[in-house]
Amino acid sequence: MNKNAKLPETEEGSVLFNIDPIIVRQHYQIDYLHSYAQDSPFFAGLAQKRLLGSHCPACGYRYATPRSHCMECGEATQWIELPQTGRIHTFTTCYFGGEEFLDQTPFTLILVEFDDVDTLFLSRLVGAEPEEPSIGLPVRARFLRNSKFKVTDVYFVPA
Ligand SMILES: [Zn+2]
Repeated sequence: MNKNAKLPETEEGSVLFNIDPIIVRQHYQIDYLHSYAQDSPFFAGLAQKRLLGSHCPACGYRYATPRSHCMECGEATQWIELPQTGRIHTFTTCYFGGEEFLDQTPFTLILVEFDDVDTLFLSRLVGAEPEEPSIGLPVRARFLRNSKFKVTDVYFVPA
């Protein structure tokens, strides 16, 4: 037995932000195993520089944002390849954003409309100043070279 045993001390500590109640900053990190489940083909498509949507074989509805089942009739959908060019349906320029995007402000989000597709695709417009986008402006998809398997792997530029 060692009556003088003690845990090792470290140089680390916490910044105290408040005393009553005590509020401190503590770093938190986690490895998250995330399944894309039935959305997997969409993200695999982005890695292959392809945009995939959904098609309902029963009613013919076509989704730019993939859905496993049709919102109109409930039938299971099938994958389709979307065109890589479309038009701006509407847009907004963000001067504030979530933490991940804050350092990229201002940035412009667009809803892209594609020929023969019934819903819109939310994405980012790159290569235009905040005052330059307009409704109906032709745009084309671009993809990150190294996929992160996020929806931000695709963005649009003026066509
Ligand atoms: Zn349907």
